[in-house]
Amino acid sequence: MAPYKGIHLTFEKKPAALLPTAQLTDVKQVVLPFAYPTAAPVSPSVFLYDTLRRGTPLSEVEGEPFSVMRSSVTGVVCGEKTVNHPLYGELHCAVIDCSSDTGDEVAVPEDHLVTTESILEAAEKAGIIDELDGVPLVLKLREFQETRIDFVVGDAVEVQPYASSAWATLRSYAEEVLDGLSLAAACAGTNGYHIAACLSPSRRRSLSLRVGKERFFKADSRYPVKEPVRRGRKNGGVMVSKNAVVRRVGVQACLALSRAVRLGEPHTTAIVTVAGDAVKSPQNLQVPFGTSVQELLTRCGLSCDPETLILGDIMTGVASLTQDVPVLPGMTCVLAFAHRPTKLESPRACIGCGRCVRSCHAGLLPFEIYRRFENMHDEQLAALQAHRCDGCGTCSYVCPCNLELTATVLEAGRADNTILLDLKEDTDA
Ligand code: SF4
Ligand code: SF4
Repeated sequence: MAPYKGIHLTFEKKPAALLPTAQLTDVKQVVLPFAYPTAAPVSPSVFLYDTLRRGTPLSEVEGEPFSVMRSSVTGVVCGEKTVNHPLYGELHCAVIDCSSDTGDEVAVPEDHLVTTESILEAAEKAGIIDELDGVPLVLKLREFQETRIDFVVGDAVEVQPYASSAWATLRSYAEEVLDGLSLAAACAGTNGYHIAACLSPSRRRSLSLRVGKERFFKADSRYPVKEPVRRGRKNGGVMVSKNAVVRRVGVQACLALSRAVRLGEPHTTAIVTVAGDAVKSPQNLQVPFGTSVQELLTRCGLSCDPETLILGDIMTGVASLTQDVPVLPGMTCVLAFAHRPTKLESPRACIGCGRCVRSCHAGLLPFEIYRRFENMHDEQLAALQAHRCDGCGTCSYVCPCNLELTATVLEAGRADNTILLDLKEDTDA
């Protein structure tokens, strides 16, 4: 087997990773889309001046109940607006003024036998979205139930430079995360699961004590993350063979699943790392979905007007021109920089250093794909398998010439099928 590639990134997680998570419980207003981005017809089910409880569904989505967004707060609908979100595109949103009534409005389910059906039902009703990939958790759990899955990993590896929200989640809620992970594994019909993280020795010891040594896995610190299991050995008390099917679930989704099943709670908050050199007090904040990024930055303080704002971490985040965007499921990091990172400076011509090739974990030739795509060499491009790129961003990160390799390889990958079809048509003709 070819040796695993990947790169070591500098860790800029301190001081946020060392501090306890702060809860923002006094948010005045949230902006929430009626539904997650979907092609299905969406019918709003709440209207101006309606009073909402936390967890109230904001819409009905034909054929896709898992796409319905729920109110993250108790409050009153005070308007609607369209938000152009850098991560999710154009969203039709409800604006909700939060009321100070934050009493426990959620009915705790009576003690009952937990079955895979009740877990799926709870995940759908709670509207849980996996922060790893933005996929509704119920869809993942259905896949676990319907296909062969041998091992489930609670993924807290987080090797991008700034983000520490998964670590913060474990620090505050490790036991509940493990419980949610065990419920996800139950849907797969396996007892094989563990939490994977890349922590300092003292934190590893503390986490092992809380969740059990067997249920913790020390992941490799290279980016992008190599599969967080050890094949051919026992993991989480279960042998993971070469051919085992392994799936990953985010630790915030695990936490939400435990709370949905045990407490009947909807998924309404995100833990978000706020960091970057323009932030005075970098920290992890737990906020209701729909809280504006501006509010997060205000809470942590800004040392200057940031020139660059990134939603997500350096490798895979998206630049935003405005702070007036809401935190939505899947957003776990917000970075504010005083200056434009050098990686965003103008590109220069390729010098053929080969770093992009050496670092690509998918074994691709990013510079060659870039060159062929830019020059519209479709026939040669088809052989370069750009569709295998997962957008990890490593090639762009290591390129000394700041070439937009990742975006180009991804675009070339999307064009792959069309090119192959065109070529086939040409050949047939
Ligand atoms: S973004 Fe794609 S081409 Fe670039 S290193 Fe990652 S997998 Fe390879
Ligand atoms: S890393 Fe950049 S400069 Fe080096 S070969 Fe790849 S594209 Fe060219």
